[in-house]
Amino acid sequence: MPEPIRVTVWNEFRHEQHDAKIAAVYPNGIHGAIAEGLNQQDFVVQTATLDEPEHGLTQEKLANTDVLLWWGHGAHNEVSDEIVERVHKRILEDGMGLIVLHSGHFSKIFKRLMGTGCNLKWREDGQKERLWVVAPGHPIVQGIGEYIELPQEEMYGEHFDIPEPDELVFVSWFPGGEVFRSGCCYRRGTGRVFYFRPGHEEYPTYFNPQVQLVLANAVRWAAPTLTHKPIRGNAQPLEKIEVIGGGEGDILSRVKGAN
Ligand code: ZN
Repeated sequence: MPEPIRVTVWNEFRHEQHDAKIAAVYPNGIHGAIAEGLNQQDFVVQTATLDEPEHGLTQEKLANTDVLLWWGHGAHNEVSDEIVERVHKRILEDGMGLIVLHSGHFSKIFKRLMGTGCNLKWREDGQKERLWVVAPGHPIVQGIGEYIELPQEEMYGEHFDIPEPDELVFVSWFPGGEVFRSGCCYRRGTGRVFYFRPGHEEYPTYFNPQVQLVLANAVRWAAPTLTHKPIRGNAQPLEKIEVIGGGEGDILSRVKGAN
């Protein structure tokens, strides 16, 4: 039996504490609702929030995280650069997966990984969202069917300032006429990154069984696949190299001289 995937759900956790209307939608916090959904699978799920020491993302916690989910909105700038660096390194070098949710498009970690502005169009009108599957057969849409329909969501519209996704799995349609690339896959270093659009705090989106299934599928897709750490830097030749021409500054001499 393979070891279960270790998941950490990170949430800013401010709306739920300061706004009774949001607390009524997510009494255990957005992280609590997401963790509840993921706990229906054979994952080991922990949570972490902004106001914990080190934002709940200590070296030890991250070292025991295979996939990190990220929900943030109003306090992106309160996330310390040191923790962002720590998460970034763990993705690039160790292959930890990252799933960025909804307004996390403006988080420091997502902008750093994308290298673009990550801005978009938005409108809080509580209309329907229909997420069309545009990559049938992709592991993230297993069991989803043709589309997901959410009765009420915030609108996000193009243009979304992101690099071309390596794989695009969802495109959203909104009644106002806008469309949006709402499920985007990337590889960064040895890690995988998935951006998933829905999840505005005013609506019970994370209790939707199809949304829960996408997140579970995305956790499996983003889990580390690295079995050997890549070797980089100055290296000895695997074959015996004959010095041609000699000379102190000659590249081959320097390689041989290191032996
Ligand atoms: Zn929102």
